[in-house]
Amino acid sequence: VFRRKASASSENQIVRFLEERFGGRRASLEMGIGDDAAVFRPPGAEERWVVTTDMLLEGVDFRADWQTPEQLGWKALAENLSDLAAMGVRPRFYTVALAIPSAIGESWIAAFYQGLTSLAKIHGAILIGGDLSRSLHGVQVCIAALGETLRRKILYRAGGKAGDGIYVTGSLGRSAAGLFLLEQGCTEGATLAERLALEAHRRPRPRCREGLWLAQQSLAGGMIDVSDGLSMDLHRLCRASGAGAEICLSRLPRFEASGSWGCDPLELALHGGEDFELLFSIPAGKTARFEASYPRRLEPCTQIGRLTRHPGVYCVDGRGGRRRRVAERGFDHFRS
Ligand SMILES: [Mg+2]
Repeated sequence: VFRRKASASSENQIVRFLEERFGGRRASLEMGIGDDAAVFRPPGAEERWVVTTDMLLEGVDFRADWQTPEQLGWKALAENLSDLAAMGVRPRFYTVALAIPSAIGESWIAAFYQGLTSLAKIHGAILIGGDLSRSLHGVQVCIAALGETLRRKILYRAGGKAGDGIYVTGSLGRSAAGLFLLEQGCTEGATLAERLALEAHRRPRPRCREGLWLAQQSLAGGMIDVSDGLSMDLHRLCRASGAGAEICLSRLPRFEASGSWGCDPLELALHGGEDFELLFSIPAGKTARFEASYPRRLEPCTQIGRLTRHPGVYCVDGRGGRRRRVAERGFDHFRS
């Protein structure tokens, strides 16, 4: 949420440049740079494998005093599992590269790995390696996670089509509300709403079960996880699918409690980062079947709009107001 959102559109450009200039090709590679994770099928294998990697840097992505080492470990893995969830695959293995300042001792490291493995256990992933090094500038974590398809099912960002309904799991803007509280010096949470926001920011729940279910049903079109904010990730889904979108603001599931703290819940829902919900499309003819069959045990989801033929992301307020363009920007921590 810190740096990344401040420069996410230039990040898009750099990624495109890297893909064109340095991206590799191979027969067994089904998806290289350009989705939530890369996809390949080892020669002779039935199932496809998916790999993703993510970094968390102290002072850039998090502040050391804003969470316990256990929460930091959890969150670092959650980012990666969320990318696997967005492909609809099962988490299997992960590696952890960790650089720490010399002042950090064994109990910190143990707590950090405790956080990692407690989340990994929930989703069936196991630690298979990594690296440990000394850092001169705070804690730095880099995780790579591998997932495997189930019955060869997988979902890509590019699978959306004009006319599809757009859905999102859970609610949006809760993690950004938690970040707001931390910035105000509120690290404990006096009310239930404050504790929920802090928990969402520190211990996000990757939607692996939901992603896997969606892939297995063969109902969904395109899918991406909401890591950089709805506006940014919806633009990415649209670009990959060759479509635009129209969303209805009154339908956005948002974290209303942040309104009483001086935040704008709608603004946080549109542009707040790190919710790690899933954003996906369902072809128009399948939305009724999808809604009727969506299991109660999973995180509820909401239809927020439709993919359109016309490019660009637009919103209506649901009360007959003007149709407006949605800017592609994530949550910028440094915006004053
Ligand atoms: Mg992602």
